[in-house]
Amino acid sequence: MALVVQKYGGTSVGSTERIKAVAQRIIKTVRQGNSLVVVVSAMGKTTDTLVNLAKEVSTNPCRREMDMLLSTGEQVSIALLSMTLKEMEQPAISLTGAQVGIVTEAEHSRARILQIKTNRLEKHLDRGEVVVVAGFQGISTSEDLEITTLGRGGSDTSAVALAVSLKADRCEIYTDVPGILTTDPRIVPEAQLMEEITADEMLELASLGAKVLHPRAVEIARNYGMPLVVLSSWSDNPGTKVVSPLPKPRSLNGLEITKAVDGVELDRNQAKVALLRVPDCPGIAARLFSEIARQNLDVDLIIQSVHEGNINDIAFTVVKKVIKQAEAVAEAIAPSLRSQPTNYDEAEVMVDKSIAKVEISGAGMIGRPGIAAKMFETLAEAGVNIEMISTSEVKVSCVIDEEDCDRALSSLCQAFEVDSSALPSSTQDNYSNSNVPPVRGVALDRNQARLAIRHIPDRPGMAAQIFGLLAEKNISVDMIIQSQRCHVINDLPTRDIAFTVARAEGENAKKALNELAKDLGFGEVSVDLAIAKVSIVGAGMIAQPGVAAKFFTALAQEQINIQMIATSEIKISCVVAEDEGVKALKAVHDAFNLAGEAQVEVPA
Ligand code: ASP
Ligand code: MG
Repeated sequence: MALVVQKYGGTSVGSTERIKAVAQRIIKTVRQGNSLVVVVSAMGKTTDTLVNLAKEVSTNPCRREMDMLLSTGEQVSIALLSMTLKEMEQPAISLTGAQVGIVTEAEHSRARILQIKTNRLEKHLDRGEVVVVAGFQGISTSEDLEITTLGRGGSDTSAVALAVSLKADRCEIYTDVPGILTTDPRIVPEAQLMEEITADEMLELASLGAKVLHPRAVEIARNYGMPLVVLSSWSDNPGTKVVSPLPKPRSLNGLEITKAVDGVELDRNQAKVALLRVPDCPGIAARLFSEIARQNLDVDLIIQSVHEGNINDIAFTVVKKVIKQAEAVAEAIAPSLRSQPTNYDEAEVMVDKSIAKVEISGAGMIGRPGIAAKMFETLAEAGVNIEMISTSEVKVSCVIDEEDCDRALSSLCQAFEVDSSALPSSTQDNYSNSNVPPVRGVALDRNQARLAIRHIPDRPGMAAQIFGLLAEKNISVDMIIQSQRCHVINDLPTRDIAFTVARAEGENAKKALNELAKDLGFGEVSVDLAIAKVSIVGAGMIAQPGVAAKFFTALAQEQINIQMIATSEIKISCVVAEDEGVKALKAVHDAFNLAGEAQVEVPA
C-alpha cells in the first residue's frame, strides 16, 4: 500500500461542484489501495478577495493580522472537502496547519517550515481516514503559537513538506493545467506538455513555472528526493514528472532550508576570451558562437554587456585547455566585425588564462534581494576584485583572478555557512536515469526593466555597494551582468554594470542609484523599461557545444538585436527590445523543436 500526498489548488476546489469531483478522485485513489493525505488551497480567488478586504480597512495591514485573515481561506476548503468525502462514505478528517503541527519560523507572511509533526497524521491514517490538511499555513514555535502563512502560492510547499515528513511514496500536485509546458501556451500555441523535467531545470524556469509549482516546493522535493508530479485535476492525463537527483541524507529538522544559499562552487579550470567593440546589431553573437560550435568547443559563461553608442563587448569562458582554439576563432572573426560606418577601432580580442569562476547557488535566493549583494560584499571584504558577473534565477557567478580563489572560496563558505563539498550539484550525472535534452523549455519575462551604470571604478566593493543599496530598498534584482569592458577615466580603470529589476521598481532603482553615483563618482545611470528577457533552460546543455549558437542564430534570423546575455550552467538568457519579445520566444521555441501538433488546452 502506498502513501500518497495530493494537493489541489484553488481552481481545483473553486466550487462545490469541483470539490465533489476532487472527492471522487480521492476516493478512486483510496480504492486503488493507497493511504492519502490531501492538501488544499483556498477556493478559487478567495485569497485575493481577502487581501482586497484588508486593503479596504487598512492602507498597510500588519503581517500578523494578514496571516490571521488569509489562513481562513484554506479552513473553508478543508472543511467542505472533508464533509464531501464523508457524505460519499469515505472516512475523512480536516486539520489546520496548527492541528497537524506544521511548525514554522515566527516570520509572518513568509514563514518557512521548520518541522512537521507526524503523529497525529499517522493516527488518522491508521484508522483509514483521508486526512485533509490546510495548505499555506503553519504555527510558530514561539510560546504564543502564532498562526503563520508561507507566502502566496505556499500550499505546494505544504504538500511536498508533508510528503517528505511522512516519507510518502509520492506527491501529486493537481492544478488547472495539464502539467509543465515547454513555454507559455497563451503566447505560443504550439507549446507542448513535458513528460518530465529535472528539479534544477524547474527552478531555473521559475519565471515560467512558478504559477504552476512553487519553487520552494521544488527545492524540498529535490533536497529529499521526493517523487513529484504535476497534473490536471480535470483529466486523467499523466502530467509532468519532476525528477530529483539521489538525495544526500538530511535531517527533517529545519526542513525548509532557512539558508538562501546551499552551495558555493569554485572552478579554476576556466579561461576567458573577450571581444571588445563589436557592432551592436543582430547576428554578431550568432556568428561568433556558431563558429565556436563548429570547432566543437564548449563555452561555459557568456556575458554581453549593454551597449554604449553602437558597440558591444562579448565575453565568454571555456576550459583552459581549449583557450588557444577559442582565441583563434575570436581572432579570425574580429576583423570582419568592424561596424560600418564606424568611428571606433575595430574589434579587439582579449584573453585571460588566469581566471576562476566562483558561484553561489540556492533556490532560497529567489525574491531575496540581499543575497547577491552579500556575495559581492563578502568578496569585497576579502579584497577580491570581481571581473565579470552573470546571474540566473538561482545562481550568481563571478569571474575573479585565479590568485584570489582560495580567499574567495573560504570567505563565501563562511559567510553563507556552507560546506563547499556539500553542495547539491546540478550536473547531468546526478540524473543519470533520465534522458535530458539540451533545452527543456523557454520562457519570456516581459515584466522587467533594465538599468545600466557606467564607469564604475574597477576595485573591490563597488558591486557590493550598488546591490547592497538596492537590497536595503527591498528591490529584488534579477539578472546582473558585469561586462568585460574597462574604460580608463582620469587614469583609473572603470567598468559598467547592467541588471534587471521588476519593471515597477525601475524608476525607484534609478533614483536610489543616482544618489550613490554622485557619492561614489560613477557615470550615468540609465533605465530602459521597454525590454523583454528570453531564456532557454536545459540540463542537457552542459558540455554540449552549439546550444548558445542555435539560440543566438534563431534571434539573428528574425533580425532581433541582443542587448544583454547572461548564462548559468543550465540556462541562457538574452535581453531584447520589449516589442520583439514574443517574436523571439516563438523563434527560439521553434529552433529547438519544442513545438508539437497537439494543442494543449489551458484555462484563460
Ligand atoms: N491560497 C494561497 C494563495 O492563493 C496559497 C495557495 O493557493 O497556494 O496564495
Ligand atoms: Mg499555486
